[in-house]
Amino acid sequence: MIGLALGRRQAVDRLVRTAACPYCGKEVTVAREAISVPCAACNRRIELEDLLVAENIGRDLMTGASVLVRAEAVVSGNICAGEIIVHGTVRGNLWSAGRVELARGARVNGDIRARHLVLEEGASVSGRLEIGLPPRRRR
Ligand SMILES: [Zn+2]
Repeated sequence: MIGLALGRRQAVDRLVRTAACPYCGKEVTVAREAISVPCAACNRRIELEDLLVAENIGRDLMTGASVLVRAEAVVSGNICAGEIIVHGTVRGNLWSAGRVELARGARVNGDIRARHLVLEEGASVSGRLEIGLPPRRRR
């Protein structure tokens, strides 16, 4: 997605990445090119597709990798992912065993449960926040 000159360290980092099981929150380190792995904790299959949302959608999104909601997009549904970056609007709950980042202009109408939250000036949230230790997924 981003074209950068890669130094040696980045070249090594590119071989693996960290993802999180969207079912139980267990963190897993996987090969960069892996498309799915079984979760060592709950045994379910973790899809590792990065999702880029550039239009309005009305369904839940679930991935062990990252979800990026572009500024022009509206998601009506819950998002459950290893990392969630919102520039647009989400009407639903966000759950991440890793980081949720709300950029300037982001609008979230729902609860956020995540280990880390980055809230840029100009973002808005209407809902409950539970930030800190790895969140357990509510059924
Ligand atoms: Zn799991």
